Amino acid sequence: MGAQPNFFGIEGVEEHCLTMKGVADAERIRNRVIERFEDATLADGDVPDSSLTFAVIGGGSTGVETAAEIDALITDALAPDYPSIRRDRVKVILLTRGAEILPELDPALRRAARARLAARNVEVLTSAAAERVEAGRVVLKDGREIETENAIWTAGGRPNELLKTLDLPLTERDGVIVDEYLRVADRPGLWSLGDCAAIPNVLAGSEKERFVPPTAQAAVQQGYAAAENVLAALDGREEDLEPFEYRPMGQLVELGSEFAVNEVLGVRFSGLLAVLVWRATYLYKLESPRGKAAVAADWILGLFFRPAAAEIRRDD
Ligand SMILES: Cc1cc2nc3c(=O)[nH]c(=O)nc-3n(C[C@H](O)[C@H](O)[C@H](O)COP(=O)(O)OP(=O)(O)OC[C@H]3O[C@@H](n4cnc5c(N)ncnc54)[C@H](O)[C@@H]3O)c2cc1C
Repeated sequence: MGAQPNFFGIEGVEEHCLTMKGVADAERIRNRVIERFEDATLADGDVPDSSLTFAVIGGGSTGVETAAEIDALITDALAPDYPSIRRDRVKVILLTRGAEILPELDPALRRAARARLAARNVEVLTSAAAERVEAGRVVLKDGREIETENAIWTAGGRPNELLKTLDLPLTERDGVIVDEYLRVADRPGLWSLGDCAAIPNVLAGSEKERFVPPTAQAAVQQGYAAAENVLAALDGREEDLEPFEYRPMGQLVELGSEFAVNEVLGVRFSGLLAVLVWRATYLYKLESPRGKAAVAADWILGLFFRPAAAEIRRDD
C-alpha cells in the first residue's frame, strides 16, 4: 500500500501545502505554477510577490528535484511565453531543516547540487525548519517568514494510514513488522514489503539504518526475495527461506534536464553524463516497451523543442 506524506503534526501543512507523492501531485504543482503566471498576466502584474514565490519544503532528493523542475518549467517554458512577468519577481526557494541539502549524498556531490541550484536561481535556505504554514506564508522556527502562496511539502513520508485499520503488528513510524524473510510477525502466511513495511536491514552498519529505506530500488529487490520465499513456504521448503539483504546500488538525483548528481556503486559523478546515466537507468527500469518508447521520444523532442506550457487537467 506504499507510503503517504508525513506532516509531523506541523500546523497548516496539510491545509496549505501541495504535496509531491506521484504523477497526480506533479501535475497539480505544474498547474499551480502555470495558473500563477496566467493570473499575473491577466492582472497586468498587479499580484502580490507571494503569489509568484514557490517554496519547496524539504531538502532531500524529492525536494531538490521538485525545486529544480519548477525552475526549469519557469525558465525554459513559461518565461518566453509570459514576457510581461519580470523574472526577478518569480522566486523558487528550497527550505531544509538540516545544515545541508541531500544529506545522504557525498559532500562533493552535495556541493555540486547546491552550486547548480544557485546557478539556476533556486535559493536554498538551510537550517530552516518550518514551524507553521499559513495561506500566504511559511513561518520558520527561528522566526523568519517566507511570503508565499505556493508551499510544497516534500519533507517526509510514512506508511499508508490505512494500515491502522487492518489487524497487523505495526511499529510507531516504519510500518508493518516483518522478520528478515519478509513474513509479518505473528501472522502466518502473510508477507509485507515496500514502503509500508519495517524491514530489518540485516547488513546495517548503524542503528540509524536499522530498517531498509523506503525506496523503489529496495522495494524491487524485496519483490524478488518475497517471491522466492513465498514459493519456498508454499512448497514446505522452510530450509530454503533466504533472509532479505538490501544491497543499495546508489542514488541518482536529476536537477533539470542537463545536470544530475549520481553515486552508483561507490562511483560519484555529476553533470550531463550523470543525466544520461540517470535517464538510461530510468528507461531500463520501465517495464513496458510502449512506456519506454514514449518516454524516450519525449526526451528526444525536448532536445529540439521548448516544452509546451499547457496545463494538464484531470478530474480528481
Ligand atoms: C517524488 C518521489 C520520487 C522518488 N524517487 C525515487 C528514486 O529516484 N529512487 C528510488 O529508489 N525511490 C524513489 N522514490 C520512492 C519510491 O517511489 C517508493 O519507495 C516505491 O514506490 C515503494 O514501492 P511500494 O510498492 O511500496 O509503494 P507504491 O509504489 O507507492 O505502491 C503502492 C500501491 O498501493 C496502492 N494502494 C494504496 N492504497 C491502496 C488500497 N487501499 N487498496 C489498493 N491499493 C492501494 C497504490 O495505488 C499503489 O499502486 C520516490 C518517491 C517519491 C514520492
